[in-house]
Amino acid sequence: MANLFGYFSNDIGIDLGTANTLVYLKDKGIVLREPSVVALDTVTRKVRAVGDEAKRMLGRTPGNITAIRPMKDGVIADFDVTEAMLRYFIQKASQSFRAPPRVVIAIPSGITAVEKRAVMDSATHAGARKVITIPEPMAAAIGVGLPIDEPAANMIVDIGGGTTEIAIISLNGIVFSKSIRVAGDELDAAVIGYMKRAYNLLIGERTAEEIKMRIGSAYPLDEELSMEVKGRDSVAGLPKTIHITSQEVREALSDTVASVVDAVRTTLERCPPELSADLVDRGFVMAGGGSLLRGIDRLLSDKTGLPVTVADDPLSAVANGTGAVLNDLTWLMQNA
Ligand code: ADP
Ligand code: MG
Repeated sequence: MANLFGYFSNDIGIDLGTANTLVYLKDKGIVLREPSVVALDTVTRKVRAVGDEAKRMLGRTPGNITAIRPMKDGVIADFDVTEAMLRYFIQKASQSFRAPPRVVIAIPSGITAVEKRAVMDSATHAGARKVITIPEPMAAAIGVGLPIDEPAANMIVDIGGGTTEIAIISLNGIVFSKSIRVAGDELDAAVIGYMKRAYNLLIGERTAEEIKMRIGSAYPLDEELSMEVKGRDSVAGLPKTIHITSQEVREALSDTVASVVDAVRTTLERCPPELSADLVDRGFVMAGGGSLLRGIDRLLSDKTGLPVTVADDPLSAVANGTGAVLNDLTWLMQNA
């Protein structure tokens, strides 16, 4: 039997994140969620793996393979690789399509016009019939259900892997936005630095991320946690295991967390007064994987005096926003 699905829906939304790419299929929801990682042959530059498979190779590749994150800092490090990645994801998600899909792509707000063009071209080469881009914080705000069409301040703080995007939106437009290259990756780097300084222990990015997720925090925990960490002793050169606590990890993360707090405060300082007044009651919503760091919402609320909510499914907010846009015909007509 023919794939009936293909008859009805051929529009997709893509969250092209610095850490993860998500694909939303119209009428179906999120169908793909994979790391934005590509493994390349260093000699031929041929793509060896994309997504989950490529991420498993990070830090574990032999000399002839290199695993890279083309969107790492919220800018496109390598156009060809980004295109290969986008093609892989679009094709994987749209296998059942009879007609080429229309594609809505959420892109980091710090991206240049040239990079935006490159993303659109890549999607076209990858088989899209029509490509529309939407700034990531806008998609996030829509995805978490903020009433962005109202004449009132809607503020979103999206902490991703490579960038933190902060935006204030009113009447369907971005009033002010700020994108800083401090987010989850920097937190991981801070853990790596701490382990080296405090224990002469060398660990990789994946281990650092695991520590952050398992026992990391931005605010004292009701019940502090601890875990074992394995790595290589930088002096003896041999494998070693140590024990660390959540207090230590919080201390290690604190400078990086402070940079995010600063960026949020700066955004608030630039906010037009009428909108500031709205924020006193409405507060802001957090999205992105970084908002899952324990206590980050509480810390931000303390430091700004505003109510802070973390989205129900912060990792899916942007993709859900692109999905909502696919369903909004007027939006599509105006922008297509
Ligand atoms: P992007 O949109 O840039 O692709 P994501 O929103 O997918 O980023 O978030 C990825 C980041 O979130 C990574 O740095 C990851 O380590 C971090 N992250 C995911 N889950 C958690 C968690 N439970 N605690 C802390 N950080 C997390
Ligand atoms: Mg994101």
